[in-house]
Amino acid sequence: MKYKRILLKLSGEALMGKQQHGIDPERLSMYAGEISSVASQGVQVGIVIGGGNIFRGLQGAAKGMDRVQGDYMGMLATVINSMALQAELEKHGMKTCLLSGIAIDPIAEAMSRRRAIEALNGGNIVIIASGTGNPFFTTDSAAALRAVEIEADVIMKGTRVDGVYTADPEKNPDAEKFDTISFTEVYERGLNIMDLTAITLCRENRLPILVFNMNIKGNLQKIIAGEPVGTLVKG
Ligand code: UDP
Repeated sequence: MKYKRILLKLSGEALMGKQQHGIDPERLSMYAGEISSVASQGVQVGIVIGGGNIFRGLQGAAKGMDRVQGDYMGMLATVINSMALQAELEKHGMKTCLLSGIAIDPIAEAMSRRRAIEALNGGNIVIIASGTGNPFFTTDSAAALRAVEIEADVIMKGTRVDGVYTADPEKNPDAEKFDTISFTEVYERGLNIMDLTAITLCRENRLPILVFNMNIKGNLQKIIAGEPVGTLVKG
């Protein structure tokens, strides 16, 4: 296996599927199936999910809501998504552990590096909810932070595109895909892979980011098997 311990980042929006809002049960089930198939092979899987399908602090602030209050609402949205994925993974027969950066007993245990690693070593898929637990951050930054904390081999950023392109492939048909790219080039080209806080944390800790299409069945499995899927961002 190419990777022993991964941190998978899923956006909240990805959970909407074809819906405009909320959680699409079909998409949720597909993701749980993909994740279960690699976890069943012995890959240790940590997961951070966004909350954009339910609420984003910036959205609220644009309509006059207090930003910090809105950010906490966004963090709670990640808890809802994490709970949905946890339930679905358990339906697939997986052992799970839900941790949270905000105290939210009895739904989740408190996030600590020690508990996360203990749960991973115990064969659980570990979902870490509530982002970083702080306003003004994103769940991309949370994914970078949690990946460094749990000493993941890689962050896998599951998206709806096949990797990193020279331009947005959904808008520009001439955009070309990179197989690998350096952190320096990501900065220089101003590529929008993750926010800069997340990119910097990964670079400083020599943590590679693999950007891939999570909506294609079997991709996660192929990556674990060492097949060249997506784009690898590294130092
Ligand atoms: N959020 C936050 N701190 C964090 C992570 C998230 O305040 O550490 C809030 C923020 O308002 C954000 C929302 O939670 O907009 C949902 O997260 P995000 O936008 O990253 O979700 P995604 O785009 O991945 O669905």
